This record gives sequence, structure tokens and C-alpha cells, in this order.
Amino acid sequence: MTQTQRIGTTRQARQVSRRGFLATTGGLIGAAAFGPTALARATTATRLGAGTYFPWVQVGKGIHAAIDLSSGGNVMVATGTSAAVMVDTKFPAFAAALKREAESFGSTVTHVINTHHHADHTGGNGVLKGEVDVLMAHNKAASRIEGQLARYVGAARGGPRQIDPERDSFETVLEEAQVAVEQSEGWTAKDFVPDALITSEREELTVDNIDLVLYHFGPAHTDNDVIVHAVEANVLHTGDLCFNGLHPFFDSTAGVTCRGWSDVLGEVIELCDNDTVVVPGHGDITDRDGLKTQQQYMDQLWEHVAAEVAKGTAKADVEAMSWSFMDGLGFEQIRSRAIGVVYDEVTAAADG
Ligand SMILES: [Zn+2]
Repeated sequence: MTQTQRIGTTRQARQVSRRGFLATTGGLIGAAAFGPTALARATTATRLGAGTYFPWVQVGKGIHAAIDLSSGGNVMVATGTSAAVMVDTKFPAFAAALKREAESFGSTVTHVINTHHHADHTGGNGVLKGEVDVLMAHNKAASRIEGQLARYVGAARGGPRQIDPERDSFETVLEEAQVAVEQSEGWTAKDFVPDALITSEREELTVDNIDLVLYHFGPAHTDNDVIVHAVEANVLHTGDLCFNGLHPFFDSTAGVTCRGWSDVLGEVIELCDNDTVVVPGHGDITDRDGLKTQQQYMDQLWEHVAAEVAKGTAKADVEAMSWSFMDGLGFEQIRSRAIGVVYDEVTAAADG
């Protein structure tokens, strides 16, 4: 397909996409969610027909994503001729629905990849283990996942209350969430742990006719971040390396590093061209510019906090601050946590 043909097709897709979103998601993903820059690049996004619980969009050839703030991290599915690969599993209550809806694109989900250990990306592992052939994550995610059983069980028990009665397929998804509650009584930590571990910076994974490249560029959001690149479709799932339009979550227990996060984003930006579609961990579909914006957040956060540390400003006072690059972002409740964690990182760097 030539570049010209592709642009012609995607312009049409963009118009369908925008109308489709506004008509079917009831403001769940509002008009403002797709800024002009993201729209200009992530133009292959097309809302699928009504009937699914999740607002699935097609983000590339054979690639779909469930872009949904309310149910955990964004999920991506790559569908081949006879198998499909799912990236991330949200919370336990949603996993059966995710698999069922993902398989409506044509193939059975055989492989699951976790972008990192956080429970909003791995909570469905316990439901899917045994249902899929392979569960993959980074080497360093395994012990962290194994330590989260209580969190998974708690999330499963609270699951039925999380199912949105306003959405399509509500009753089916509610039943599936209730099954997860029953299953949770028998779960052990091992039920969530991946059985295939990613140990190098770059690994190729071929499943059926799906070619993926998995990257781990070192500590950033956690010590076990994995980026999934669907090369032919030119789509990247970045996991929580990107919070699009949102304050990023800083987890000091998981090896987060602001400097590392910026560096790793630099590596991920290098994987992109003008047409790359980026599925972020949270927030709407974006592109290379969205990754640059996230990198600028990290760089400016570091600069501002370092300036305050140099002046001797107390941590609590810095945590209460906000700067213009933070204006208008969602997840305001985790803003001061980000500042506090970076304060500690700046202080440690100065001491070291
Ligand atoms: Zn996370």
C-alpha cells in the first residue's frame, strides 16, 4: 500500500471514528479526548459497532484496543489467522469479558503479555491462566506479581460493583465478574505469575502470523516495564510509560525513576515514525508527540523539583506546588505523590 493510499483511507476513518465515539460512548470518552495532534496521526482508530462492554477501537491492521479509564490499564489485542495476543488484563472482574470480546475479532487468545506488574494490568491473569497457552511478563515482574495475591482477591470481590450498568452487555459482564469472585476463593499467588519471562532488552515474538517485538529499556515507571511493538501495523503499546493527558503514577515501591523514565521514553520515541499509533497505559490513543509530551513532563518535573531542593524548600511545600506543564491533566489526586517521589530521587542523586 502506498503512503498516499494510506492517508486517503485514514482520513475517512478519522471522521467515522469521531462520530462513532461521540454517538456510542455517552461521554465516557469525550470529544476532547482526541486532540488534533493525536487525531492527525492515530487516524486508523475506528469505533466498532455497539454491543461490546468495552469501547474497542481499531488502531491498526489486525490490532484493536480497549481504551477505557474506568476498568484498569488499556488493553491491546493483535489478531492473527488462528491465534490472538492480548496485552494486559485489567482487573479480575473484566478478564473474561476482555477475552470474549477480543475473540470477536476472529481468533482465540492464546498469548497474554503484561506490560508490568501493577494490578490494574495483571489482575485478569488469574482468570486467564489455563485459558491461554502462554502468560508473559518481564523477569522482574514475576516476584512482584506473586506478592499481590491479596490485592487481586480484594479487587475480584469488589468487581461486581465496578461493572457499569449503563454499558452494553452489562448483564453478561456482571455474571462473569461474579464467577471471578467465586474463583478468587481458590486462587493462589502462582495463578497470576507469568510462565514465560522476558529477560533481554529486545525480544521477537511470533505467534501465528503476528510479529511482535518486546522491549525493556531499563527502569522507568517500574523496574519491569515492557513495550510491545506490532511492527507491521506500526502500533506500540507502551504500558504505563505513557499516561496520556493524566498525571503519571509514581510507585516508589516498584523502582520508579523520573530520570530513567525520561531516558526510556527517548528510546521508545526512536521506535516511532510519523504514522506510529501509540496505545498508552492510561488515557486516549496518541502518537510520537504524546510520548514527547510525557518525556517533557518528566524533564520539567525534575528541573522544578531540583530547583526547589537547591533552595532548601521543605518536601511538603514542594509537594503542594504545581507548574504550568501540569495544567489541565487528569488524575490530580496523584500529582503530589509524583512530586514527592521525585523530591526523594533528586535528594538521593545530590547525596550520591
Ligand atoms: Zn502502572
